[in-house]
Amino acid sequence: MTSPRFDRSFVDALPADLNPSNAPRQVQRAAYSLVAPTPVSSPSLVAASAEIAALLGLSTATLAERPWLDALSGNGLLPGMVPYASCYGGHQFGHWAGQLGDGRAITLGALIAPDGARHELQLKGAGPTPYSRSADGRAVMRSSVREFLCSEAMAHLGVPTTRALSLVGTGDAVVRDVMYSGHPRPEPGAIVCRVAPTFLRFGHFELPSSRKDLSLLRALADYTITAHFPQLLTGTRASALDEDVLEAWLAEIVRRTAQLVVHWKRVGFVHGVMNTDNMSILGLTIDYGPYGWLEGFDLDWTPNTTDAQGRRYRYGNQVAVAWWNLVSLAQALVPLFATTAPLERALDVFRATLEQLEPAMLASKLGLETLEQTPGSADAALVEELFALLSATETDMTIFFRRLAEVRTAGAAEADDATLCAPLLDAYYAPEDLDEALRARTARWLRAYAARCEREGTPDGPRRARMNAVNPKFVLRNYLAQLAIDGAEAGDGREVEALLEVLRRPYDEQPGQERYAEKRPEWARHRVGCSMLSCSS
Ligand code: AMP
Ligand code: MG
Repeated sequence: MTSPRFDRSFVDALPADLNPSNAPRQVQRAAYSLVAPTPVSSPSLVAASAEIAALLGLSTATLAERPWLDALSGNGLLPGMVPYASCYGGHQFGHWAGQLGDGRAITLGALIAPDGARHELQLKGAGPTPYSRSADGRAVMRSSVREFLCSEAMAHLGVPTTRALSLVGTGDAVVRDVMYSGHPRPEPGAIVCRVAPTFLRFGHFELPSSRKDLSLLRALADYTITAHFPQLLTGTRASALDEDVLEAWLAEIVRRTAQLVVHWKRVGFVHGVMNTDNMSILGLTIDYGPYGWLEGFDLDWTPNTTDAQGRRYRYGNQVAVAWWNLVSLAQALVPLFATTAPLERALDVFRATLEQLEPAMLASKLGLETLEQTPGSADAALVEELFALLSATETDMTIFFRRLAEVRTAGAAEADDATLCAPLLDAYYAPEDLDEALRARTARWLRAYAARCEREGTPDGPRRARMNAVNPKFVLRNYLAQLAIDGAEAGDGREVEALLEVLRRPYDEQPGQERYAEKRPEWARHRVGCSMLSCSS
């Protein structure tokens, strides 16, 4: 195997912090600090993504051995790697937090894949950097398993995301107080190697803007557009800093971000910490922390105990928060424009994108070609009653939509309530809640739905296929992740690999793997890590 080539355009294009120490500090007028990972005592490869390895021209076997295992654990560098931690700020829970930065992430370099594409490799948990503040720069196994699995699961679901190449156990203990309850304990440490074209966030632009460092803000915008949005530099649009290019760039970020949150809605994903430092400039899902998957459908649900009070990052609020974050980004870009009109035009793309994508997404979940959005229309009433029913008793969203695909439209008008509702029973956490009244109401909705499907004329078979292509059967339920974590913490990565294997084909029936598609068991309802997660990672 030929040794990979690494591109250093990020470090060459942008100003570096000249202080070589990794002591915590404010870093001014620099996009990054050169900092090497801190070695660990006994690294071992717990799991790897075969797809990402192949994309990079590597094999998973290669990753388990030196020199790659050294690189993935922070114990060595491959020729051409120039490691750095980048400098960014952000709004956390709606408040400006000043400088944050890669406090435990270190980018090793950008690997040029056999197809010529450039992929940044970033270790998460590789030791302190100038941005670590009072923390240790490390990550625990449980949060690393969650990031590794979810990055890959999201990609297989068709949701834009950063990827994960490897999950390495470090052999070193990391002390964490899981629920911030005054009970710190040592946990096994781990490092995930994340992969993305870039890890630039909204916060990278907010920080220099807040410091009135126009020179750095311009350099970052120029680099980002030139390197990651080259399609915007065609024809007469020669310079990345021309206002029309900047406007088109922001419009594209707005469009991708809107598209991203519609995907999250479709699959029932709740990010949990949508701070502006956790918003990718490419519109990727980034920074998997206390995220969760809706089990019982609940617009108010947040997996993040740190957010339990305000519920800013609840499932039903992600579109609004995405908008808030985009407005923050636009405000940071104001100094690059003579007037705010272009920024406002770019932000308008948000509503336009949602108006197009949301009904299309909902229609596809229901197996319909189109949904009429006009308030008061029959379609709007159908959707409204659907969401009311999903909230009427604890209903597993993932199972519900898979089972809805099984409902027979022919004869629905004449079928009795119990027969009509039968395919859905699996989706209810408390089937006894489905009393006569709720069953009658559900059946009424199913008859209306069946009539709507018949009007559109799609037969049941093709409708089922269409629904099953957008409604996953397998998602990374928190309790499944927890079972994989239990193994990985004991040094056994088999359950991580088994779960990853199922999550590779989330829309397929996969007979024999039903246990990965079951609703959350009762024991997981209140277990830490299954229903409650903190930011402690
Ligand atoms: P997050 O909540 O993961 O988005 O992190 C917010 C900020 O805290 C970022 O600047 C992180 O790099 C930093 N951070 C989180 N955990 C650690 C840690 N264990 N060591 C150093 N910095 C951290
Ligand atoms: Mg973060």
